[in-house]
Amino acid sequence: MSISTVVGNWKMNMSVAEAEALATAIRALLTIPDGTLALVCPPFPALAVVAEVLAGSTIGVGAQNVHPESSGAFTGEVSTTMLFETCSHVIVGHSERRALFGETDDFINRKARAVTEAGMTPILCVGESLEDRDNGRAEQVVEFQVRKGLAGVSGAVVAYEPVWAIGADRGATPGTAQEIMAYIREVLSDLSSYHSASEVSLLYGGSVNHSNIQTYTAQDDIDGVLVGGASLDAESFCKIVELAYR
Ligand code: PEP
Repeated sequence: MSISTVVGNWKMNMSVAEAEALATAIRALLTIPDGTLALVCPPFPALAVVAEVLAGSTIGVGAQNVHPESSGAFTGEVSTTMLFETCSHVIVGHSERRALFGETDDFINRKARAVTEAGMTPILCVGESLEDRDNGRAEQVVEFQVRKGLAGVSGAVVAYEPVWAIGADRGATPGTAQEIMAYIREVLSDLSSYHSASEVSLLYGGSVNHSNIQTYTAQDDIDGVLVGGASLDAESFCKIVELAYR
């Protein structure tokens, strides 16, 4: 059985001092139900201070991105060697990185492999664009992203985030999310690196908040959520975590 998981993606928001204050407020407010994993993913400059604030708590820390090489002439990049002391998880393949920074599935796979080699867990984000969906290609696109992204990688979390549902007025309907996520589970069971697809945590991401979280986690193949906007407010993030347990 996979565990309920809530990941807060803070994206490129907040000063280091603001991130420290948010982590402090979350630590003070949050009661994590047994069987739930809660993680926050601050921007790189705030990782160390957020990890310090959350040290000794049950709230984990993840990174939003990583470079696949461990060191070298890659100006502006951050490697697993710089992350493994503070992070248990790393988001790879977020749709913003695919669309705005031209990341390919091969490059994303190299990142996922580097993350597991460093003893952390990749959170692989996959999801179709509105155009793909309108053309009936949602399953095909997502299957390709899962197979490519996880080639040779075991022990990942997979987040289904339809591009059209991120930061939108409304997310995917729970039924639509379930349909694709059941398909992802099927694809995972066919991957040789995954012996038990039922143990992989599958997260839905796209305009999740404390009012709609349970409509998603009530679905058979949705084990948790990846939250952007609503994770920037301590109270709303804590409510989401408390309601996520299934
Ligand atoms: C995200 O950033 O991955 C995300 C799901 O954002 P939001 O919750 O704001 O839609």
